[in-house]
Formats: sequence, C-alpha cells, structure tokens
Amino acid sequence: MTTVLITGATSGIGAAFADRFATSGCDLVLVARDKERLDRKASDVRTRWGSTVEVLAADLIDPPECRRVEERLAMSESPIDILVNNAGFGLPAPFPHSPVEDEERMLDLLVRAPLRLSHAAIPGMTARRRGAIVNVSSVAGLLPTGTYGAAKAWITAFSESLRVDLAPYGVRVLALCPGFTRTEFQERAGMDVSSVPSWAWLDADPVVDQALKDLRRNRPVSITGWQYKAYAMAARHLPRRVAAKMARSRKPPESS
Ligand code: NAP
Repeated sequence: MTTVLITGATSGIGAAFADRFATSGCDLVLVARDKERLDRKASDVRTRWGSTVEVLAADLIDPPECRRVEERLAMSESPIDILVNNAGFGLPAPFPHSPVEDEERMLDLLVRAPLRLSHAAIPGMTARRRGAIVNVSSVAGLLPTGTYGAAKAWITAFSESLRVDLAPYGVRVLALCPGFTRTEFQERAGMDVSSVPSWAWLDADPVVDQALKDLRRNRPVSITGWQYKAYAMAARHLPRRVAAKMARSRKPPESS
C-alpha cells in the first residue's frame, strides 16, 4: 500500500491531490492548520474511497509544529512513500510595500518547510529505494516576479537538483508549476484578479492529473495548459533583459 503525505490538503490543489491519490487506492496523511476542515476532508475521502486517512493539524511556519510533521515523515512504521509539498500562500503587495514579517512567513512556508520536510522524508525513501517528492512551485518562478516568484524559483531549482541526487536510489522528484488556478489562493492573498482573462484560468483537477502523469513519466517539471507552456518557452528563450521587462510590464501569473 502506498501512503502519501500532502501539505495544504484541505483546499485547492492539495485537496485535488488527496482525491486523486485516494481514487488510485493510496492511504493518506493530510496536513493543514484547520483541524475541523482536515477532519471533514478525511471523512469525505474515507467515505468515498475507503482509504485509511490520518490527519495532522500543523502550522508549518511554526518550527515545533513543522517538526511534528517531520517526525511523521521519518517514522518507519506506516512509512510515507510520496511527499507532496503543496501548502502555500501569496502576498498582495510587492516587496517594498509588504511588512517584512509577512515576507518572512511566506518564505518559511514556501522554502523552509519543504526543505525540512524533504530532508526528513529522504532517509526512509532512499533506504527503501522507492518514493517520490512532488514540490508545488509556480510558473511565477520562471521570471522575476517579486519575492513569491523568487521563492518558487528556489523550489523549482531545489527539485531539479534533488532529482539528480535521488535518482540513483529510485526516488523521483517533480516540480509542479501551475499558472492561475481556481482555488482559495487569490482570495486568501487579497489579490484583485478581475483583469485576468478567462483563458488564463486552470482548474485544480487537470493540473493534478498532468502532474501525476509527469511523475509516472519521471519528468522534472510539470506545466499544464498551452498558455503556460508558451509562457515557459518564452521565459526560457527570450533574452533575460527582455523577459524581465515582460514580467514587470505585465501582471505576473497569480500575483499582483
Ligand atoms: P489554497 O486553496 O489557498 O490552499 C492552501 C492550502 O495550504 C490550504 O489547505 C491551507 O489550509 C494550507 N496552508 C496554508 N498555510 C499553511 C500553513 N502555515 N501550514 C500548513 N498548511 C497551510 O491554495 P492553492 O492554490 O491550492 O495553493 C497550493 C499551492 O499551489 C501553493 O504552494 C501555491 O503557491 C501554489 N500555486 C497556486 C496557484 C494558483 O493560482 N492557485 C498557481 C501556482 C502555484 P489551512 O489554511 O487550514 O492551513
């Protein structure tokens, strides 16, 4: 039986991962802060697919709470086969106008937590010579798009290098880079997305389906949708100076 630990599993992309893994017969460990919502999600998954579901209420920004999740990842009984580092949020204002405490909290959730959780999960995965880590990044990490984009650039680069380190042990690593996806993300960040055209929006289910397909094919990065494949291609091939200008002159994906 495969057991999957998903952070931020109560909403949006994380909740879609929980449903997809449960449908394919996996057991789950769901992590988020809101315990009631976690319990509701767990009971829904148990009823619909009969999976075994544990819940771990933890604020991953808080080091002692993050450590409880690390301890679960390091356990040898009911070991975790797949870790999905998904929990995240964005900020409404650019760096110069954003309280430094908020910036630090965002960096802790988008960078420090996945770093620590991956570090806790890896020894068991390499010893068992199987496993996978899916890091939810963003197309915002492909171009200079503020501190959110910088954190997402870090997680993509981290994933691609970890993938090389873990390949000899049969452990896969995937960076998932969604574009604008209909979840609670934008509302929680207080972003005005009224000017985002309808063609730019993705749903969480196809994003997760594509990620699981790319994980099976052992691809390094997963991008859903022709519009974001074109964006990624432009980011890769345009001269950096032009790309940086393009990123600054347009509202970057999912940030203001
Ligand atoms: P969402 O619907 O707002 O879900 C966020 C999830 O993270 C919730 O389950 C939330 O539950 C949990 N969470 C938030 N802060 C947490 C914390 N401190 N500790 C533990 N859990 C926490 O957002 P989403 O769009 O699905 O976002 C998932 C990932 O996709 C994020 O990494 C985001 O950066 C990335 N992404 C999103 C988009 C987009 O357009 N939606 C695009 C590209 C990338 P609690 O509040 O109960 O903790």
